[in-house]
Amino acid sequence: MRYSAFSLLAQTLAGHKGWKPAWRDAAPKPEYDVLVIGGGGHGLATAYYLASQHGISNVAVIEKGYIGSGNVGRNTTIIRSNYLLPGNTPFYEHAMKLWEGLEQDINYNAMVSQRGVLNLYHSDAQRDAYARRGNAMRLAGVDAELLDREQVRAMVPFFNYETGRFPIQGGLLQRRGGSVRHDAVAWGYARAADRRGVDIVQNCEVTGLAIENGRVTGVETSRGPIKAKKIALAVAGNSSRLTAMAGMRLPIESHVLQAFVSEGVKPLIDNVVTYGAGHFYVSQSDKGGLVFGGDIDGYNSYAQRGNLPVIEDVMESAMALWPGVGRLRVLRHWGGIMDMSMDGSPIIDHTPIDGLYLNAGWCYGGFKATPASGWCFAHLIARDEPHPVATAFRLDRFATGRVIDEKGVGAQPNLH
Ligand SMILES: Cc1cc2nc3c(=O)[nH]c(=O)nc-3n(C[C@H](O)[C@H](O)[C@H](O)COP(=O)(O)OP(=O)(O)OC[C@H]3O[C@@H](n4cnc5c(N)ncnc54)[C@H](O)[C@@H]3O)c2cc1C
Repeated sequence: MRYSAFSLLAQTLAGHKGWKPAWRDAAPKPEYDVLVIGGGGHGLATAYYLASQHGISNVAVIEKGYIGSGNVGRNTTIIRSNYLLPGNTPFYEHAMKLWEGLEQDINYNAMVSQRGVLNLYHSDAQRDAYARRGNAMRLAGVDAELLDREQVRAMVPFFNYETGRFPIQGGLLQRRGGSVRHDAVAWGYARAADRRGVDIVQNCEVTGLAIENGRVTGVETSRGPIKAKKIALAVAGNSSRLTAMAGMRLPIESHVLQAFVSEGVKPLIDNVVTYGAGHFYVSQSDKGGLVFGGDIDGYNSYAQRGNLPVIEDVMESAMALWPGVGRLRVLRHWGGIMDMSMDGSPIIDHTPIDGLYLNAGWCYGGFKATPASGWCFAHLIARDEPHPVATAFRLDRFATGRVIDEKGVGAQPNLH
């Protein structure tokens, strides 16, 4: 069924009794051409683009929980392409262009909202760094505007401009950045992949990888063995666990990232804003809640819940930037497992094991990458060569030294 104003009208007249499930709850077949492990945004997008761009539809997505139960349904929905380094900029801009046409492509309302992402600066040095970043973006064809304090004040008048510990001097704005309803991305890709013949297999945990003579031949799962010619790992925070099944260690640490939503209030803030003096960012959801977050928890963990020190830290940053926010109540908070790479940039590459491909290292910025990640991973799997905008995301860069250290903090994942 194609979603349209006409189908909505027809269903309304029929009492909404004819809607079909958005995707089939498939049982695993004994064998596939490609198995994508992980039914998050990246896995589902990969399966969709394998079918739509490369004509490979004998594909299954194997998900241990339900679709959207991982980070794709836990993130704070921010999309942007305001990167500085050449390895990153073309990739994230490719993602932004795919976001701009996504809803038509997959015939699903993902609520793509280009409301602008504003990064605040609080010192001359930070302003100069943002000017450099903005210039690099513009040279690469990405939109960027450097704003002074009064221009920022006109957009968000209620922040603490002068009397805070870190007075706001201005901001770097990417107007095409914004937010996208995260779980709609998972549902939309799942539906679009299913329509092209991909099996979405939920509640099926991969427990082992079958490897013969240096080549992967299938997986062991909680629902029995499945064979495949190619296996693509897109399990985000669980990447190290999956590659350990193949005897591989990754340059990745898993950490928890927490997020928060306040009670609903009238429209207050119509952009995404990041606080440049601490790790804090905020936007407002369509239901009215302020959605905000901050830093990762400092210790390694596979738990999907965080700890009190980071909660305190996030609230302190919120109060420093926006004192009025202290009058709101926090409604919910949650955590997700981040696959923090050593240089803060992702990996889209084949592994030393034939037929085994890896998509990982997204840190806390993988949601915005979802369409390009799926696009480039599908390209790699189908053609066995990296997509031109993802050539820098190689696994061996940590051995060769060609790291993409966007933040310039070295091999310290808890600082990326
Ligand atoms: C609180 C929070 C805020 C964030 N905010 C942003 C943001 O604003 N912008 C942004 O760009 N990014 C953000 N991120 C990061 C982003 O969500 C992730 O980088 C991205 O979602 C990871 O890719 P994914 O969607 O494929 O991951 P996931 O949705 O986690 O998918 C991986 C899937 O693999 C499955 N899996 C794991 N092990 C197995 C197994 N053995 N067998 C089968 N399946 C398995 C998991 O169940 C999971 O569903 C945030 C993350 C969090 C937690």
